[in-house]
Amino acid sequence: MTARASHGRLVVVSNRLPVISTSQRGRTRLERAPGGLVSALDPALRARGGRWIGWPGGKLRDSAAVDEYSREAGYELVPVALSTREVRRFYLGFANGTLWPLLHSFPTRMELDHEDWVAYETVNRRFAAAAAASEDADLVWIHDYQLMRVAPHLRRARAETRIAFFLHVPFPHFDLFRLLPWDRELLRGLLACDLVGFHCADYAANFMDCAERLLGSRVDREAGKIEHGERTVTVGVFPLGIDTARFAKLAEGAPDREAVDPRIVLGVDRLDYTKGIPEKIVAFERLLELHPEHLEHVVLLQIAEPSRDELPEYQRLKRQVDELVGRVNGRFSTSRWTPIRYLRRSIPPEELAGLYRDADVALVTPLRDGMNLVAKEYVASQTREPGALILSLLAGAAESMQEALHVNPYNVDAVVAALDEALKMDAAERTERIRALQQRERRHDVHAWLARFLERAVAPVAGIRPYEPRDFAAWLRRAAEGQRIALFLDFDGTLAEIASHPSQVSMRDSTVSALAACAARKDTDIAIVSGRALSDLQTFVPLPGAVLVGNHGLEIVGGGLAPFLHPDLPHFEVR
Ligand code: UDP
Repeated sequence: MTARASHGRLVVVSNRLPVISTSQRGRTRLERAPGGLVSALDPALRARGGRWIGWPGGKLRDSAAVDEYSREAGYELVPVALSTREVRRFYLGFANGTLWPLLHSFPTRMELDHEDWVAYETVNRRFAAAAAASEDADLVWIHDYQLMRVAPHLRRARAETRIAFFLHVPFPHFDLFRLLPWDRELLRGLLACDLVGFHCADYAANFMDCAERLLGSRVDREAGKIEHGERTVTVGVFPLGIDTARFAKLAEGAPDREAVDPRIVLGVDRLDYTKGIPEKIVAFERLLELHPEHLEHVVLLQIAEPSRDELPEYQRLKRQVDELVGRVNGRFSTSRWTPIRYLRRSIPPEELAGLYRDADVALVTPLRDGMNLVAKEYVASQTREPGALILSLLAGAAESMQEALHVNPYNVDAVVAALDEALKMDAAERTERIRALQQRERRHDVHAWLARFLERAVAPVAGIRPYEPRDFAAWLRRAAEGQRIALFLDFDGTLAEIASHPSQVSMRDSTVSALAACAARKDTDIAIVSGRALSDLQTFVPLPGAVLVGNHGLEIVGGGLAPFLHPDLPHFEVR
């Protein structure tokens, strides 16, 4: 890829288009959607030109609004329509009812329905067709768990296109991932890309384990490479950042808060079972029980942004949180004070920044989270006296945000202890921790993330290193440690690919060296069994010491055995 191409046309494929529609005097207009990722990607697309392919949400009837936005932005918006049934089966069903819980390590909440899978595949193929129409794309960048099957369809249509994928949620351990009936199909979906990016080293490692153990792909963990068929896929770690400067500015500009007391413990989450809201409320209740000095001096301000409320799991969660809030408030409220302020609605970033700035503690305790941007926004918004951040160990953000108070969100006592510590922490310690966190987040903001990903996505792909004896040793260690091994191998279609004529076949260099590595082991005997004549086999397999079996067993030589030639061999000769 040339230097010019690294700034060439970009095609972004994501579940949602980066716009919201507004109506002004009966006329539909599109505006850029809020959110850090959109605000970073949109300028990149404006600078390079290209397309953004996505579902517009509801029905986008007004194509004039799309054209107008595309014209102004200098890149093309390409809406992909979904039928009502597809929204139910692809989006609510497979993406959010099956994949979301699985990828967040909640397998018991996973819904399995073959029709949902079929719809997922159909919709992914439609997104791929829209991407394949971009003939001049230098890079197609696919986003997230809704679109894990786009790449193979796109690859079939455009073999040479550079394809990158970024997963915004966790990738679970092999032992969980393999519970999915379509585990291999999803892996193949990602392995049709050139680059697959994750937030954390753990997620990348889990993905490589799955490719190795479920597909038998060869993996180089140190280099982040997976061999898939004839291609090498790069696996990278790109922890997403936020627009730190924007949040600092919003926080500085937010109106002053009137009261100083009570102190605020702030929670900002989508109303999702992965966010651990009930567990958080239980921990806060326990804090009030165990540390009565906080009564009337602290409130938990919990923002819960409504989400996916068509799904029963989310409706159950809503009822559960309503009940818990009622219980705690009924139990502890006084005439002057209510311990939990619960806002079940979406708050715009301008208002959030002020809440972040004034909160004494941010309680960010998801039970599992790909990254968690709220933790980062809280840190960026500490423009006055800094507060304290309590962060779940099970959020991707914990990998780098080392100065936060880390907790296991399932351990109520540990969360209570962290809350008490945070509320009593002196200003010097809070300042030191927040400043260190701010510095790191500024260096690794969303713009740095974008630049790093794009650079990596168009860099020349180095192949995976050739097989070495240590690969075989590592594989063998799992399969047959300490036992003597007899390795029986077929030739055509196994050691050598099928060719148009039997005389045209040859073994790949990597296969020859793998065979040599096997042969060099003292505990391994190799036999190559073929329907070819022995003399034929001998010319193709340069492996002294191996047992060669020709004519389906009528001729056997090698391995220190006395040669066996079937007495009636001439009877079968082709004349
Ligand atoms: N957010 C918001 N208003 C709300 C609640 C959340 O704008 O009322 C934003 C928040 O500022 C953050 C994002 O939603 O940027 C949540 O991102 P996060 O990674 O924490 O969790 P996700 O919802 O993506 O799982």
